[in-house]
Amino acid sequence: MTRTLDAKVAILGRQAVGKTSLVTRYVHHTFTDRTSSTIGASFVTAKVALDNWECRLQLWDSSGQERFRAMTQMYYRGANAVVLVYDITSEDSFKDVDTWLQELKRNIDLDDTVILLVGNKLDLSPESRQIDYSRARDYIKTISGDETALLEISCRDDDGVIDVFYELATRLVRKQ
Ligand code: GDP
Ligand code: MG
Repeated sequence: MTRTLDAKVAILGRQAVGKTSLVTRYVHHTFTDRTSSTIGASFVTAKVALDNWECRLQLWDSSGQERFRAMTQMYYRGANAVVLVYDITSEDSFKDVDTWLQELKRNIDLDDTVILLVGNKLDLSPESRQIDYSRARDYIKTISGDETALLEISCRDDDGVIDVFYELATRLVRKQ
């Protein structure tokens, strides 16, 4: 018998790390070099099928812009999972992850929330990398005690995108 799971997923991170690209890649199977910044509240529903489970993930794609910060609270309020996205070629975007986590800690109970850390733009040249895999892994291990909660992906190459949603669904089901 298949059971259904509905979950709210907040996708957070600095502007231009690839949050909208991640959602678009998974939901619409496309990628574009030119995206427009996301304004306003919006979510799309993504389906993930696991053994015995049909997961319907409500993906809240935040704008990530400071001037909209006040609004972002409604992205993560009541979220069952949080995807923190950074760009592996941007130190600033990685620092932003920590800023987000501090804000989340103040506003929601993270013990009840699935956390995934996603380093995007793996397709860019190795010389442009600023955040080593081991550094990000150590960071997320400190935060969540789970070093497997880090995924490096490329939305452009469609590398690892499916895994993000599979890992999300798996962890959400485990919390049931
Ligand atoms: P958001 O502001 O976090 O929603 O970021 P977007 O999804 O709008 O992407 C910002 C820019 O990064 C766009 O020009 C995208 O085409 C580009 N981008 C997104 N994902 C990747 C990726 O995996 N590799 C590369 N090289 N560029 C990407
Ligand atoms: Mg966006």
